[in-house]
Amino acid sequence: MAEFKENGLSETNVTKPQGSEKTRCCAENAQGTDFIREAIIEDLRTGRYDRVHTRFPPEPNGYLHIGHAKSICLNFGIAQEFGGKCNLRFDDTNPTKEDVEYVEAIKEDIRWLGFDWEDRCYYASDYFEQLYQWAEELIKKGKAYVCDLSPDEVREYRGTLTEPGRESPYRNRSVEENLDLFRRMRAGEFPDGSRTLRAKIDMAHPNLNMRDPVMYRIIRATHHRTGDKWCIYPTYDWAHGQSDSIEGITHSICTLEFENHRPLYEWFIKELGIFAPRQIEFARLNLTYTVMSKRRLLQLVQEGVVRGWDDPRMPTICGLRRRGYTPAAIRDFCQRIGVSKYDGVVDISLLEHCIREDLNKHAPRVMAVLRPLKLVIDNYPEGQVEYLEAVNNPEDPSMGTRQVPFSKVLYIEQDDFREVPPPKYYRLAPGREVRLRWGYFVRCTHVVKDPQTGEVIEVHCTYDPETRGGNAPDGRKVKATIHWVSAMHCIEAEVRLYDYLFTKPDPDDVPEGLDWRANLNPNSLEIIPNAKLEQSLAGAPVGSRYQFERLGYFCVDPDSTPEKLVFNRTVTLKDTWAKIQQKMGS
Ligand code: ATP
Ligand code: MG
Repeated sequence: MAEFKENGLSETNVTKPQGSEKTRCCAENAQGTDFIREAIIEDLRTGRYDRVHTRFPPEPNGYLHIGHAKSICLNFGIAQEFGGKCNLRFDDTNPTKEDVEYVEAIKEDIRWLGFDWEDRCYYASDYFEQLYQWAEELIKKGKAYVCDLSPDEVREYRGTLTEPGRESPYRNRSVEENLDLFRRMRAGEFPDGSRTLRAKIDMAHPNLNMRDPVMYRIIRATHHRTGDKWCIYPTYDWAHGQSDSIEGITHSICTLEFENHRPLYEWFIKELGIFAPRQIEFARLNLTYTVMSKRRLLQLVQEGVVRGWDDPRMPTICGLRRRGYTPAAIRDFCQRIGVSKYDGVVDISLLEHCIREDLNKHAPRVMAVLRPLKLVIDNYPEGQVEYLEAVNNPEDPSMGTRQVPFSKVLYIEQDDFREVPPPKYYRLAPGREVRLRWGYFVRCTHVVKDPQTGEVIEVHCTYDPETRGGNAPDGRKVKATIHWVSAMHCIEAEVRLYDYLFTKPDPDDVPEGLDWRANLNPNSLEIIPNAKLEQSLAGAPVGSRYQFERLGYFCVDPDSTPEKLVFNRTVTLKDTWAKIQQKMGS
């Protein structure tokens, strides 16, 4: 890493490392495609910085979600574009909520998204000693004090947006007393919550964050990295800016809720006289039909609404991965949404559009029948099997073809037959002829019904041997092509179909007295235990992705066993985003 960190930043005058040729070159060529990139170009031009160094700073208290992906693509993407670096830093200042399980999962997800922090994985907890020393420095400068108010009292004294706060009765302790008390706080002499260290700024400041914010609290909790070494822990506000400074971060890109904290971060940096990063805020990603806060996602997991953090209905990276999303589709989505200064909600159909575009080009197409209905071809010789050539992906001829077995008894989709076809229904019906994909024309002659229920259990037809390959030599046309599988060759699989977790675009749109959980969709998962799949899917590896013709994109779930595959539907083929765009004429 960075010369920066090793030089130690307690020194006031840190010499900035020389910007690389690549950085200069990138800055000259870079396009200011958004306000963040424009600000960076400006900083390089004016010489405020001569290099670009960003970081992605997750708190290891949950799994990453698609909102984090936006921040990851932004931070790692900007570093790449400007020939700079991006660190991974765990903001692990809150021992009561954090866990190593999350650390490992976060690393895996970032790697999977296609980004690399090289050897620069850091932890805010690695800086606890340095932060402690800096806190003593502020005490010695008369800029921090030990306060005995309880958390409730601190809140009460803080005032409101319209009223100034009141000064703590402990505010004017001497430097000696403060130093002594702070050292004894560290030594574990006082009970949890009994004292805090606070910055001495201004209790009448219009920005509430500047009203003597708490820097340390006493918490006896085992930290996932420092164990029981500490019983005082820095607040996020005291740790974050200094951690950026220690790592020589030039551009500290964060979400809008930290805009009001920026003056505080700048105050700390100035009082300590250390390297000053520039903080730039952007709007968080919100998605329709989705909750994004880690607290809520954890609730969904703990309350058993979903099967885990990686349930394919979750907006987590691991959930999307299991659902069949590709890293490229997620990166494409993050690029398309761009960055802005204003909170908004992105239509989830855009995310679905991105995965469809990717899979349309890259996923092989196969035939599968989710709700099987037997189709018997009465004039096809008993026991005969033919292999028909099927194109794997018409979008990409290099993906080649495969041989699909055809025989007397097939399965078709229940939906593809109607005994009494409604208007505009062109698929199979008594007397009607359709094309079997990659195969022959078949004409329905009669049906067999269950004598008890009256339900159609077999559709009988005849085929025209002249139509092999899907065209009639006499030029007659059919209005529909349906998919099928050969009954004696197909394999069975469990298929899981998903709908949104919430029934409303805004999960918070609830009648008074109810919370967001009132909008949970009771039908977000439908399991089809015995779908029929073409033979070629036997042994498909976990994670492999396919288009099931006419049904959507599917991928193999880790729950699969050698006996039975399990598929998740990633998305259907219906592209609502493309439709919206067409309507808007763009
Ligand atoms: P949550 O509110 O879901 O708990 P968080 O902000 O507390 O999220 P962190 O682990 O602190 O989660 O986030 C790491 C980084 O990801 C931060 O820089 C944060 O700003 C960014 N981030 C988190 N959520 C979003 C989002 N929805 N859109 C864009 N960036 C986000
Ligand atoms: Mg956070």
